[in-house]
Amino acid sequence: MMVELIRNARLPRCLLDGAAASLLPASGEKDRMRGGVISHSVPSPGPSPQPSPRTRGEGVHAEDFALVDIAVDKGTIAGITVAADDQDRAAPAETDVIDLDQGIVFPAFVECHTHLDKGHIWPRRANPDGTFPGALDNVMADRDANWSAQDVAARMDFALRAAEHHGVTAIRTHIDSLGKQIGISWPVLAETREAWKDRVTLQGAPLFGIQFALDATHMRDVVAAVRAYGSGILGCVSYMIPELDQALDVMFKTAAENGFDLDFHVDEATDPAARSLERIAAAALRHRFTGRILCGHCCSLALQTPDDEKRIIAMVKEAGIAIVSLPMCNMYLQDRQKGRTPRWRGVTSLHEMKAAGVPVMVASDNTRDPFYAYGDLDTLEVFREATRILQLDHPFADWPKAVTATPADIMGLSRHGRIAVGLPANLVLFKARNWTELLSRPQTDRVVLRHGKRLATMLPDYRELDKLEGMNP
Ligand SMILES: [Zn+2]
Repeated sequence: MMVELIRNARLPRCLLDGAAASLLPASGEKDRMRGGVISHSVPSPGPSPQPSPRTRGEGVHAEDFALVDIAVDKGTIAGITVAADDQDRAAPAETDVIDLDQGIVFPAFVECHTHLDKGHIWPRRANPDGTFPGALDNVMADRDANWSAQDVAARMDFALRAAEHHGVTAIRTHIDSLGKQIGISWPVLAETREAWKDRVTLQGAPLFGIQFALDATHMRDVVAAVRAYGSGILGCVSYMIPELDQALDVMFKTAAENGFDLDFHVDEATDPAARSLERIAAAALRHRFTGRILCGHCCSLALQTPDDEKRIIAMVKEAGIAIVSLPMCNMYLQDRQKGRTPRWRGVTSLHEMKAAGVPVMVASDNTRDPFYAYGDLDTLEVFREATRILQLDHPFADWPKAVTATPADIMGLSRHGRIAVGLPANLVLFKARNWTELLSRPQTDRVVLRHGKRLATMLPDYRELDKLEGMNP
């Protein structure tokens, strides 16, 4: 049944678009809050194309939320109004109404950095010591031995079903793009994207070591794959090779010639000498690059001297680069030495970059592969762990945008990751009423709405993967 009204929902104000946010008053302006309970006297005007002007001055929880009713018409958000009083709540009997009783509503989540091609290979190829080199070696061995089209397609589909179940509507995945794998994985990505186009919007970005940018044959093959099967995104892993600037010139020139955006894995390392981020920023400025640039990881930025960190962040800002932190994977891999307790959390200078005006976000990264033994593309888990690892709290401010609107923007998806009149009612509804309730439990009882309908999926059973070559649960 199509949901037509969601009542008494706490909507993080930072996730409203500008116009709606300005009509729903700011926290602290509330004039009728008694004992922590909000009272309301303005009746809901019912479904309307715009929030009613009568809502001014009403219905805001002190903790960054607006208390709203969301009207849905044929799967589209038709109105966002201050929650109506009890006595004004008569709805036609046939109307499907969800009363959240002050539970939180989020827009569907957006994952801008994942690895669906690597996902779930752990049962046949673990990382014996949990280190970064161990991850690289074991993924390479598994790729060479097992990544047939059928194997990649089955694991991608499994991962997407989990993501959809958790409330994700858009995913960017990196695709290992070396040698024979280019011809295997990219057609699978295109087929999967088509099969899933009404459920999860899928983008792909190629992944290979930056030194291969200097190999013209390799670049020709990658560009051909992106043009035929990709999403207009070029990318690679950057680190400190002697020919770094030359290789970056190839990447930027190739992207500009083909109208591609760029997506780099950057300085995923504990060594402060890893400073390819500033070289990418310099290359972007040198090439006057006008496409979008997303850089992931940038772990070693947090280990620079304060002066260097400040200078590099200023360059990143000037170059228009957006940054995604992958906190769960970083804390798992960085600073890992056998027998020694890790001393840092592995994450980049996300607060400093945000303060400088750089678009910042967080995402899942790897799921159950040698780079990260865990994970299920549950973006709420990412937000919860990011909050703890990166201290995104007190105040939460607009950090919820880091898993919704900001990654949607860098992916060019203006209809994802936000709640606004006219957008699809792709929403995640929680019983939790505030941040501490939301982030203390896994929220497995969340309700995911897709185009106004309750999603009735189950999480895929791991036993499905047992049939793939070499899997050994
Ligand atoms: Zn990654």
